[in-house]
Amino acid sequence: MYIVMFGAPGSGKGTAAKILAKRTNLPHISTGDMFREQIKNQTELGKLADSYISKGNLVPDEVTINIVGDRLSWNDAKNGIILDGFPRTLAQAQALDKILEGLGQKVDIVPEIKIPNEVIVERILNRATCSNKECGAIYNTKFKKPKVAGICDICGSTLMTRTDDNAETIKSRLKVYEDNSKDLKEYYEKKGVLLPICPEDPTAENASEQVVEKILRCPLCKKR
Ligand code: ADP
Ligand code: ZN
Repeated sequence: MYIVMFGAPGSGKGTAAKILAKRTNLPHISTGDMFREQIKNQTELGKLADSYISKGNLVPDEVTINIVGDRLSWNDAKNGIILDGFPRTLAQAQALDKILEGLGQKVDIVPEIKIPNEVIVERILNRATCSNKECGAIYNTKFKKPKVAGICDICGSTLMTRTDDNAETIKSRLKVYEDNSKDLKEYYEKKGVLLPICPEDPTAENASEQVVEKILRCPLCKKR
């Protein structure tokens, strides 16, 4: 099953994608994580990506499409994947369809997580991520606190704050999302795969678990 998580930055799509990956045994592919890994390793791609990410802009389509195309050719992606943060533009969505077509596959379901902008800003400003890449658990110092401040509950590694999670970039990231989301939503709506989800209480500690339950209960998910 090929799942595309859709939602604004800070909507919780990354957390939901991680839970969904465990429940379905499918690989979780986050373009943001892939770029951050490249930046950490100071590769040419990382340097290029960082020049956009640090300003709250999107990395150019051809660069992003290439790394996703490469990742989708791995053996573990042949039964399905959970894409998180891709596609973010119509051109990326069309490229993804082409890549999947070549694999004899298609996008099965696009859960769209809808959260009010005020909650998003609060979430992003208080977000903390586990520094251990294998774990990558996401916390919120207000809504989803770790048991010990600054330490991951799951693996005991230190928590870190993403450098692009600041008040300035949030504004441009939300604007970029608003500018692109309409076309993307229409695109997937026409294909009959969009599943809008409004979490009852997006500040609840188990908000992401509830989102995942809704995805798994959807007939689009069951048919495979
Ligand atoms: P968020 O959901 O909080 O925006 P991500 O980890 O998904 O965080 O992405 C971080 C940044 O990486 C984005 O702001 C953007 O600059 C870049 N990025 C991630 N995915 C894409 C994509 N599909 N196309 C272009 N840029 C991307
Ligand atoms: Zn951890």
